[in-house]
Amino acid sequence: MSEVIIVGGGIIGLLTARELVQSGAQVRLLEQSTLGQEASWAGGGIVSPLYPWTYSDPVTALASWAQDYYPELVSRLYQETGINAELNACGLLMLDAPDEDDALRWAETHNKSMQRYPGADIQAMEPNLTAHPQQGLWMPYVGNVRNPRLLKALIASLQQSPLFSVETHSRVVGFEPSRGERLQVQAKQGKSAKQVVFEADRVVVCSGAWTRQLLESVGVEIPVVPVRGQMLLFEARPGLINHIILRQGKYLIPRLDGHIVVGSTLEHTGFEKATTADAKAMLLQHAYSMVSALKEVPVVAHWSGLRPGSPAGIPYIGLLPGWRNLYVNAGHFRNGLVLAPASARLMADIVLGRDLIVDPTPYDPAVDRSSEPMH
Ligand SMILES: Cc1cc2nc3c(=O)[nH]c(=O)nc-3n(C[C@H](O)[C@H](O)[C@H](O)COP(=O)(O)OP(=O)(O)OC[C@H]3O[C@@H](n4cnc5c(N)ncnc54)[C@H](O)[C@@H]3O)c2cc1C
Repeated sequence: MSEVIIVGGGIIGLLTARELVQSGAQVRLLEQSTLGQEASWAGGGIVSPLYPWTYSDPVTALASWAQDYYPELVSRLYQETGINAELNACGLLMLDAPDEDDALRWAETHNKSMQRYPGADIQAMEPNLTAHPQQGLWMPYVGNVRNPRLLKALIASLQQSPLFSVETHSRVVGFEPSRGERLQVQAKQGKSAKQVVFEADRVVVCSGAWTRQLLESVGVEIPVVPVRGQMLLFEARPGLINHIILRQGKYLIPRLDGHIVVGSTLEHTGFEKATTADAKAMLLQHAYSMVSALKEVPVVAHWSGLRPGSPAGIPYIGLLPGWRNLYVNAGHFRNGLVLAPASARLMADIVLGRDLIVDPTPYDPAVDRSSEPMH
């Protein structure tokens, strides 16, 4: 059975590992710090792109497959580990879609449930709303998942398998072909940055925002850049809001225990992850203008994460040009949590030569998309 090394232990690396282990491959995961602590932890966990009709079909194809699969994934992980990733099938209310007709056309084409509601109906669904929209869009099929718990469940499940092993504090720095079509992976381990070498039949790079830098070491250009996002958490009581609420690109996400996540910023600040007072003030202002009762609710956390920004928000999934056994699964930008199950399945299908769940062409790393705008 083949040996696979996965580089990066975010949602993409962990789910890719799960897919491969389930098919009988031996998987070693190398992570530069600890598992599941970067963008995948920081994200909001909305199981849909925001304003999904503004994305291209390749994003919709992966999102749709994953949205169908999420309930099964969360329930299986709960059975396997006892950890509940708390999929909240709460629906999403969009208060200000500027292009509602486009949205409704997209929904019809892609068979998604989406309705235009008058303001009074929206107010009845969310009595604490102070934004008072004239009308809005209701997307009942969109939920949210508690992503830090999803990561915990995935890690716990993988650790039950004798086929899985992990090396944390192992920063991969290079790749080299080895004998018998194997691949050597060079890493620096621990505080002393001790040089170590691993070997496998295949390697999948799932290193999120760090992918461009890592693959430069083998002369492949994958234009993924870090895009910082900041979030706040309110310790609210259950029922203050009942649905995800989206307005002016900012959102409120209700967790099952009542906590409300507010996000987010989109900042090109390189690998700088510090949070800022300006972003906090801006997010508070948006939150209060949607639900003024939040002024009485304590903010208990403020954090940031680095999204793997990519042209058109389309991830790179496939074999790297010029290589026979080095693959990439990265660049999911704002949608890595929703896209992850489909992206990981597609990656595993490609690695294992199985039938593919979607046409892989739009995600092919060999296709130059660097002139397309970030989205
Ligand atoms: C504020 C915010 C809100 C978001 N909200 C949502 C949302 O609501 N819905 C949604 O679908 N998506 C959302 N996202 C996007 C989503 O979180 C990301 O697209 C997704 O987490 C990317 O997953 P990843 O595994 O590629 O990256 P990461 O989670 O960043 O994981 C990459 C891992 O690779 C490791 N690594 C990097 N380089 C190396 C190396 N050389 N050697 C070893 N290890 C390495 C890193 O340490 C890291 O652990 C949000 C993101 C942010 C920041």
